[in-house]
Amino acid sequence: MAKSRYKDINYPTPNFDPKKTNLVEGVILHHTAEPTIVRSLGVLTNTHKKVGTHVVIDTDGTRYRMCSPTTVTFHAGRSYLNGKEGCNNFTIGIEFQGNTLNEPLTADQIKSAVEYLLPIMKKYKIKLSNVVTHEMVRKAYKKRHPKVKCSGKVDITQTEYKRFMKYLSKHLDSKKK
Ligand SMILES: [Zn+2]
Repeated sequence: MAKSRYKDINYPTPNFDPKKTNLVEGVILHHTAEPTIVRSLGVLTNTHKKVGTHVVIDTDGTRYRMCSPTTVTFHAGRSYLNGKEGCNNFTIGIEFQGNTLNEPLTADQIKSAVEYLLPIMKKYKIKLSNVVTHEMVRKAYKKRHPKVKCSGKVDITQTEYKRFMKYLSKHLDSKKK
């Protein structure tokens, strides 16, 4: 296997559920909406906030790995995907440093995330249609529960999602050949 182009840093989060095992059926893409990586890492490891993710990807492509794919961490909240609610139990969370409403993802962020994802998607046989944005799984939840409070904020934008998916599907295909 080719050597990774991007740096991996172990940065464990205390915010996970030790009683559960992640089924790893999907991937949820997020942006941190924090101005700096230091702030993002702070939020995602803050025991008072109870939010986490599997990996945070900085603008230069550096990956901060917070827990293993089979860990259940708290990135999705009220959510619906693949016929099920509670996406934290069966999805991987990828947090991109920055806010895609203001700045697009960098090429390094996209490449680094795909490099991280390809072996995981292969190992757990994740369908491409189960790679979605946080906004998409929230909207799906809201559709099922119109009266329940659930944030509708953009996370990540559809434009950046499409860019990401184009790159991901191209590389999934090239792996098959
Ligand atoms: Zn999110």
